[in-house]
Amino acid sequence: MSVNNKKNASTIISASWIFTSNSKNELLSDYSIVIKNDKIIDLISQDEVFEKYEANEVYQLTDHIITPGLINAHSHVAMSLFKGFADDLPLQDWLNNYIWPAEKKFVNSQFVKEGSILALSEMIKSGVTTFNDMYFFPNATAEASKELGVRSNIGLVVLDFPTNYASDPEDYLVKGFDFRDKWRNEDLISTSIAPHAPYSVSDKAFNLINTYSEELDLNIHIHLHETIWEIEDSIEKYGITPIQRLNNLGIIGPSLIAAHCVHLNEQDLSILASNKVNIVHNPSSNMKLGSGIADVARMIGQNLNISLGTDSSASNNRLDIMEEMRLAALLIKGTTKSPELLPAFQAINMATINGAKALGLDSLIGSIEKNKKADLIAIDLNSILSQPSYNPLSTLVYSSSRSDVNYVWINGDIKLKAKVLVNLDEEKITQISKSWQTKIKQI
Ligand SMILES: [Zn+2]
Repeated sequence: MSVNNKKNASTIISASWIFTSNSKNELLSDYSIVIKNDKIIDLISQDEVFEKYEANEVYQLTDHIITPGLINAHSHVAMSLFKGFADDLPLQDWLNNYIWPAEKKFVNSQFVKEGSILALSEMIKSGVTTFNDMYFFPNATAEASKELGVRSNIGLVVLDFPTNYASDPEDYLVKGFDFRDKWRNEDLISTSIAPHAPYSVSDKAFNLINTYSEELDLNIHIHLHETIWEIEDSIEKYGITPIQRLNNLGIIGPSLIAAHCVHLNEQDLSILASNKVNIVHNPSSNMKLGSGIADVARMIGQNLNISLGTDSSASNNRLDIMEEMRLAALLIKGTTKSPELLPAFQAINMATINGAKALGLDSLIGSIEKNKKADLIAIDLNSILSQPSYNPLSTLVYSSSRSDVNYVWINGDIKLKAKVLVNLDEEKITQISKSWQTKIKQI
């Protein structure tokens, strides 16, 4: 308590609108968020905030809406250096003939660090404050996450075949556990185990992964039922779909984060629903690779938790959750001919609290509530492109874009101020990315 009886806070942010994404989906008007260090300590009317609090930093954001920071629930951030390297190709051709050979030639710790810094800079500018990643050399991704102060859940990747990073499933896991030991006390970084996909991981490796995930209480992050090819390949090799196979192996459960799930028969859907699997919908990547459009309406009908992901910049080519939110809201209407499905507030839930639930971080992030971490974004609704704005949630989902993200805070720290990255040299990051482009295009 200071001499004038006001409580000290670090930051006070006042805005015309605050969409909490809490269990009641409250939309507050003319409210303030009070932050102390890394946490939200109060949500209070603008009329009262300065009677009760004083703060070092004060933001008065008229004509802005504040939402929880967006959560990118499926990414491979380092692959931003492959953005536009191989486009307009089907998934298997794209992977076998372009991405995997390029990874063999170029991916090392420096590639992952510099690619991650590029990606995290893009995500901050796009209002993404947390990402759920799966890639090689996770230490380099974690270093970028710590340096830029972006929250991450980093997947310890496992594959059957050797890469520049590791030789076999045991080697991937040993390196993964060294990673976990090194970073386990880091505030912004959590870990999961990330078997790449059913077609690239053997039963034997899945059995190991199952044991470790239970022992260490780690979520499992995987690509699942992304293409028709993957399902046909599994039926040919195992006589069952990948979901049925993983169910037999004990991998399917509430700690599973399943990216894609584009093609599901009734039995697959019922296995996912009865096991409360977390689904990550990646509409841009699925469309760009011609994989299909996930039947989100059917999944919502089964009460599955559905979050949003960008996948990598090599298959998107944007790390833009606002765009995924708009696409998700439009595709479900177009494919079902039911415009009432996925109203704006639910699309925002997908991009925020649903992602937090998938990562097991919903006690910390995903909604604007007292005692949660201050991961917040402010979107300018005053742009001529957003006029008129009858309903701020509709404007946000259907009219706004990431270029309207004006301010970003992660863990109470400001990361984007009036659209400018704080403490980051954009020119230097651009130059480093261009020097990779020069090397990679020669492949
Ligand atoms: Zn992916």
